[in-house]
Amino acid sequence: MVSKEKLKEYDIKYKENHRELLRQKARIYRKENPKHNSEYQKRPEVKERQKQLRNRPEFIEKRKQYLLSIKLKVFSHYCGGINKIKCQCTKCNISIIRMLTIDHINGDAHKNRHQGVGIALCLWIIRNNFPEGFQVLCWNCNCTKGTNRACAHYD
Ligand SMILES: [Zn+2]
Ligand SMILES: [Zn+2]
Repeated sequence: MVSKEKLKEYDIKYKENHRELLRQKARIYRKENPKHNSEYQKRPEVKERQKQLRNRPEFIEKRKQYLLSIKLKVFSHYCGGINKIKCQCTKCNISIIRMLTIDHINGDAHKNRHQGVGIALCLWIIRNNFPEGFQVLCWNCNCTKGTNRACAHYD
């Protein structure tokens, strides 16, 4: 008879050697059993494991890079090139990515809440093929723009 340890060892080896295949199988299973999957996701030990995975430094770094790439894509579109990214206010030279935002040129952000803000808005813009009516502004120029279309630089 095969010992439990041996079986376990075999199991680990098998999983190591068939990682991609097992991943594919799991993917198909998740697709075909969405309900089971959502119940599985709610288990506390699963939640805890996912939280730990999300907090791994390499995961955080990857996510950061991904979010940055999304922003760069949208900003470079509305600024006319990756090297031209800056606040589009003519009296402002801020080009630090973290200080820049997407502005609804007509000030109708409140009418377009479904578009989201921040990264969600960037993703919405990409999904909708970079529609007109947006520009890149820094936080200061954006927040002081209000309804009169010009920021505090022009007061
Ligand atoms: Zn500015
Ligand atoms: Zn300004």
